[in-house]
Amino acid sequence: MKSTLSSSSKKWVYDAIARIEADYNRSADTHLIRLELPKAPGITLYLKDESSHPTGSLKHRLARSLFLYALCNGWIKQNTPIVEASSGSTAVSEAYFAKLLGLRFIAVMPYKTSMAKIDAIKFYGGECHLVSSPKTVYDEAARLAKETGGFYLDQFTYAERATDWRGNNNIAESIFAQMAYEEYSVPRYVVVGAGTGGTSATIGRFIRYKQLATELCVADPQGSVFHRHFNDRTLLEIETCTSLIEGIGRPRVEKSFIPELIDCMIAVTDHQSLTAMQVISQKLNRRCGGSTGTNIWACIQLIKKMIADGEQGSIVTLLCDSGERYTTTYYNDAWIEDKIGDCNSLKAEIEAII
Ligand SMILES: *Cc1c(COP(=O)(O)O)cnc(C)c1O
Repeated sequence: MKSTLSSSSKKWVYDAIARIEADYNRSADTHLIRLELPKAPGITLYLKDESSHPTGSLKHRLARSLFLYALCNGWIKQNTPIVEASSGSTAVSEAYFAKLLGLRFIAVMPYKTSMAKIDAIKFYGGECHLVSSPKTVYDEAARLAKETGGFYLDQFTYAERATDWRGNNNIAESIFAQMAYEEYSVPRYVVVGAGTGGTSATIGRFIRYKQLATELCVADPQGSVFHRHFNDRTLLEIETCTSLIEGIGRPRVEKSFIPELIDCMIAVTDHQSLTAMQVISQKLNRRCGGSTGTNIWACIQLIKKMIADGEQGSIVTLLCDSGERYTTTYYNDAWIEDKIGDCNSLKAEIEAII
């Protein structure tokens, strides 16, 4: 039998895998922040701080997994240009790994992608290919990969399967290990958003694999298709995803989104997400991104339900990325005033809980 990898290309692939593993070995895990809730006695909120990865978001885990999966499959070889469709954060993390391996990287993104993300991709030597409609990123990435003889990483298809769901220090294993010494070590809920759906799939599978009582709740922007699909599995696509929250919510049900692993979904308006983002940023004394606000709004709803049901316990959610990526939008008063208006009444509602 003939190997599809010659011995010289095998050596490059092995060296590439070793470089990613050495980079991982030099890195620390992300913190799990504990937030006391004096207004909700007996309930504790935890935030897994994914902004502390070298490339600033939870997409650092995904990028590593996608590269390792593609390398082990023989899909990436020496000099293979790497192409990806992204709303920004994934491309930043993938540009980091492409640079680590000395590979050309092209990100296909909607033109409205934040300048901070574009600058970060360029910092790692990546190229940005901007398209006018968010729905054309997939076809354009596939076309560019073909044209350059490159490989389309395709996060929206491969996110759920590229991650080792039983462990290998995936986000789920890390969260549950870090909860071990807390008074409610098995959380009542884990709350996450969905962009690819990969994070929710990894956590959902891990919960079942470890036979835990934890329920998985996905917080989804009102304008996204995912929560509609959760309630009506025949609905696969909407015209556009109108949400202002970057990183989560899609107009198309992505292959990596697996509704069977989710216990409940909560639809969140941009107004609710961005107000919750402001409150949690104040509580933590640092700026969080918009999708963290979406998560926090959903957590508030679950905490209210726990209080009403007389339950005590813990809730874990994700601090997905830092607000420093959004200084011209979410942290610009004029932008907020223009896009969502007054936040004060909702703020009071959130501050009644956290
Ligand atoms: C991608 C992303 C998410 C959701 O993660 P997935 O695993 O892709 O579903 C949440 N927040 C931000 C900022 C993201 O970039």
